[in-house]
Amino acid sequence: MSTDSTDSSNAADRSREPGQGLTKEEAFHRLLEGHWRYLENKRLHRTVTTEDRGFHAQGQYPLAALLGCADSRVSPELIFDQGEGDIFVVRVAGNIVGEAEVASLEYAVANLGVKLLVVLGHENCGAVKAALTMNNAPGALGFLLREIAPAVAEAQALPGSLLHNAVDCNVKHSVHMLLERSDTLRKAVDDGLVRVVGVVYELSTGDIKFHATIG
Ligand SMILES: [Zn+2]
Repeated sequence: MSTDSTDSSNAADRSREPGQGLTKEEAFHRLLEGHWRYLENKRLHRTVTTEDRGFHAQGQYPLAALLGCADSRVSPELIFDQGEGDIFVVRVAGNIVGEAEVASLEYAVANLGVKLLVVLGHENCGAVKAALTMNNAPGALGFLLREIAPAVAEAQALPGSLLHNAVDCNVKHSVHMLLERSDTLRKAVDDGLVRVVGVVYELSTGDIKFHATIG
């Protein structure tokens, strides 16, 4: 087992300030840098020491909060090459904006001082695909598909792949729903404190594309 920690993410070096003391622009750049490392297979070698655990036990200082799909292939910490305590992650199939998701992200902004919110959708999303193909979904699944339905309707008016367009529209829809359903988040964006970005992850290439940036 390697004990080399020269290139590890040392929690002891992290800022104990809200949002790790970063502006929304700096937090965005930090995530982009992590994604470039991921794309180039240069992810940081991270170790978790006793000191790290002690740091985490005292509190959390994530640089971003993220609403992503529950899909097993779309892991935010891997895609953005971040470590423990770096991203406050909320995952739900289809990255929909329900009450619990809104509450979680409000907590991240109001209590943890996060200045960057990311909505992360992805290529070939099963939840979006289900919204395209299922008319009467059983049980709670119906709620989820109804949340995606407006994005499907928008995509049906666009040229090209319906599924591809619906995924893009669903990310944009979630960004707008976050701001529509949360006074806290909308005010934070209007006040210039928080940025919200919509991102689609391409499973086939590992790349990301931006579909909405507000703030
Ligand atoms: Zn998905």
